Amino acid sequence: MAGRPLAVVTGASSGIGAASARALAAAGFDLVVGARRVERMQPLADELGADVRPLDVTDAGSVRDFCAGIERCEVLVNNAGGAIGTEPVAEADPEDWRTMYETNVLGTLHVTQALLPALVASGDGRVITIGSIAGREPYPGGAGYNAAKHAVSAFSRVLRMELLGQPVRVSQIDPGMVETEFSVTRFRGDADAAAKVYEGMTPLSADDVADAVVWVATRPKHVNIDQILMLATDQSSARVVHRR
Ligand code: NAP
Repeated sequence: MAGRPLAVVTGASSGIGAASARALAAAGFDLVVGARRVERMQPLADELGADVRPLDVTDAGSVRDFCAGIERCEVLVNNAGGAIGTEPVAEADPEDWRTMYETNVLGTLHVTQALLPALVASGDGRVITIGSIAGREPYPGGAGYNAAKHAVSAFSRVLRMELLGQPVRVSQIDPGMVETEFSVTRFRGDADAAAKVYEGMTPLSADDVADAVVWVATRPKHVNIDQILMLATDQSSARVVHRR
């Protein structure tokens, strides 16, 4: 019996993940959503009937539990991730680099590996990974995050090649500046420093990126959107921003 297609979204407790979950539900997908702050996802359960599960993508056991019982999955949105710190290489804390690598890179690997059989079983699986302009353009103070998102980009491009001929499409969406909790996390909770990032310019919203996620997820089966670079009109490259 063909039910509604299933979308799994990681990092759905805020920002792009939460917006993508809402947009995918509106597009007709059932949802399984995960993040560490389970209580933050309760509205997705209450309003959309999402199956909300705890998930720490850095923990293989947590990923295993999160994916338990998912035998068919049409769409996986690898979104969980983020940046910590803006220190130059000379001063960077290797622990921050480790966290960024484990979350963005190994987290994406853990979840993708766990759900690949279900994606294949669906007959038309889609893996949509949220990369970043930081994975295309390195910039001073960004090395740890740049390295992690460059790795995410390599992961996604290689997966596309390795799955050629199988019923799984592989896509990567690389946003520029999006106003979410991303910068608050990057500046270790300093809301003023985070707000300054977007001062005098109009960034993308989480809903803008969610639009792209749904568009990629709903192309005809013979169309694979390999990569999207998506920037605010006020941003033309990683560090070139128009401010009023
Ligand atoms: P956000 O609002 O801070 O959301 C990050 C999400 O990732 C949260 O739901 C968080 O949930 C989850 N997460 C973090 N560590 C996790 C872990 N170990 N296990 C499970 N979930 C985890 O930031 P966002 O902007 O929406 O970020 C989403 C993605 O977009 C990230 O991959 C980020 O690198 C990328 N991105 C963001 C921007 C931007 O400017 N905002 C630009 C380019 C790319 P919990 O803390 O509850 O676990």
